Amino acid sequence: MQGRIQREHIDQVTHLLVVGSGKGGVGKSTVSVNLAVTLAKRGARVGLLDADAYGPSVPMMLGVRKRGESQGWKATLPLGQRGKLSPAQMLKPLLRYGVKVMSVGFFIGEEQAVAPIPDVLGVLIRQLLYTVDWGELDYLIVDLPPGNDEPQATLCRELELDGAILVTTPQDIARIDTAKGLAMFQNARVPMLGLVQNMCGFVCPHCGEHVEIFPVSTESRTLLDSLPLLGAIPLDPAIARSGDKGHPVVVSMPESLVTAAFKGIAERVITTLAVSEKTLNRRMPGSQEDVEATKGDLFDDERED
Ligand code: ADP
Repeated sequence: MQGRIQREHIDQVTHLLVVGSGKGGVGKSTVSVNLAVTLAKRGARVGLLDADAYGPSVPMMLGVRKRGESQGWKATLPLGQRGKLSPAQMLKPLLRYGVKVMSVGFFIGEEQAVAPIPDVLGVLIRQLLYTVDWGELDYLIVDLPPGNDEPQATLCRELELDGAILVTTPQDIARIDTAKGLAMFQNARVPMLGLVQNMCGFVCPHCGEHVEIFPVSTESRTLLDSLPLLGAIPLDPAIARSGDKGHPVVVSMPESLVTAAFKGIAERVITTLAVSEKTLNRRMPGSQEDVEATKGDLFDDERED
């Protein structure tokens, strides 16, 4: 049996969720943004942290871009601060479409060649999470960078994550990397909420034919294939257009099929979290150690430690 780790919880945040992918460009930020806005439209209190220090997309997708150069991290982030920060020292998130937003991109100009060294990324993002004055939140969604290194490793090791969502495209080239991401979350005993398949086919606006732009993988990947499917989103130029203009598609086209797909994803996330909590409460006599033990088991019944 793996050693128990006491992971930290973020004050006033009920569900801390991460959205990850093995590969870049598969639509992870698009899913994070549209999921966050959909949950907020349903009346939830939602925060979104864009944790991609090298290619933060959330500011552009929500229309809060930073075009000018900044003075660098030291000028803006009280990262060296030890202990609890006073409210005056905390960073205020921006409110967009009902979501409290913070991004690494708020501190670095869009074209500025400044980025933290990879080794400290985890510490930086963890500290950023604590430095923001989120207030009370039902969901805090962290849009992770692609890959399985930092900041993922530090966040998985040190924070109490309530669920991970993986985003992939139908191609095997993306699914291989997504399977790696899944293995990383499972090794860290992070509860898996499910998979979002993005860019699944394209309906030609002229003739209505359904075209698979990316070859659909025929390789079976046992762990990945066993994940619940939270939803499938087609390739739709409106998604890219809306993202570039800073108006997420669930806002700009509320009656569209893709908005319906995002609503379905939000619904499944809410239900999965509710079911897992109910099961935890039923199975739990109460100790934190029991919580840790059972939580891993719930989402990965077949794994042996
Ligand atoms: P990631 O976060 O995985 O790097 P992004 O969410 O930034 O990926 O998406 C990459 C690009 O693809 C963006 O320009 C985005 O608008 C576009 N995009 C994402 N999903 C779709 C989709 N289903 N249809 C059309 N464009 C999409």
